[in-house]
Amino acid sequence: MAKMIYAGKAKQLWTTDDDQLLRVVYTNQATALNGKRKDQISGKGKLNNEISTLVFKYLAQNGIPTHFVKKISATEELVKKVSIIPLEVVTRNIGAGHFAARFGVKEGLRLAVPVEELYYKSDELDDPFMNESQVYALKVAIPAEIKQIWQLSRQVNQLLTPLFASLGLQLVDFKLEFGRTADGQIILADEFSPDNCRLWDLKTKQHMDKDVFRRELGDLADVYSEVLRRLASKLGE
Ligand code: 5GP
Repeated sequence: MAKMIYAGKAKQLWTTDDDQLLRVVYTNQATALNGKRKDQISGKGKLNNEISTLVFKYLAQNGIPTHFVKKISATEELVKKVSIIPLEVVTRNIGAGHFAARFGVKEGLRLAVPVEELYYKSDELDDPFMNESQVYALKVAIPAEIKQIWQLSRQVNQLLTPLFASLGLQLVDFKLEFGRTADGQIILADEFSPDNCRLWDLKTKQHMDKDVFRRELGDLADVYSEVLRRLASKLGE
C-alpha cells in the first residue's frame, strides 16, 4: 500500500512498490508568506508538473544529475528516493524580492556577479539565512557537499539563463534543493517551475512567476500556461 510520507505546501510525496522510487503529486495549492496565505488554483499542479518535467529533462540531457525519473500522469512524476538536504539554495542574477528589500536596491538591478545564498529549510523558523560555517556547525552538510551544490547550481544557472532568454524570459533568480542518494551522491531534487524562480518577460518586464500570486498581479494559471507554451515550443516532444 502506498503511503504519503510528506505533504509540502504544493506537493505530496508517496511511497511506491519500489523502495528506491517515490511518487510526487503536484497539487493546485498556492501559498505565500510562508504558507500564511493559501489558495487553490485550478490547473496549477498540472502546469508545474509539465514545466518541471521539461526543465529537469533538459538539465539531465546537459549533464546535471537529478532525481527525476519520469512523468507518470498529468499531475504526478516518479523520482529517485533521496534524503533531502534541508537547504534552500538561491541564485540571483538580478536584484529582486527579499534581496532588493534587504539591501534597499531597486528591483531589476543587474548584479555584478550572481549572488549565491543558503537558507535553512524550516517552516517554524521561516527559512532563516544560513552561512557556510553555520551549515557545518549544525552538521546540515559537509564542505564537499556544499562545494558540489555550488558547482551544480552554477551549471544550472549557465544552462537555464540562455534557455529562458531564448524564450523571451529573463531568469531573475531561483531556488534549488538537493538530496543525497543512498551511495552519497548529491543530486538535484524538488522541482523547477515558476513557483521557485522569478521570470520576467524580456520585452514587457511582466512578472511570469509566483509573484503574480504573491503580489496579486493577475491570473497565475494564465501566466504559467504562457511559460509552458514557450518552453514546450523549444523543448516539447
Ligand atoms: P526571495 O528570497 O527573493 O524571496 O526568493 C528568491 C528566489 O527563491 C525566488 O525565485 C523565490 O521564488 C525562491 N524561493 C525562496 N524561498 C522559497 C520557498 O520557500 N519556496 C519556493 N517555492 N521558492 C522560494
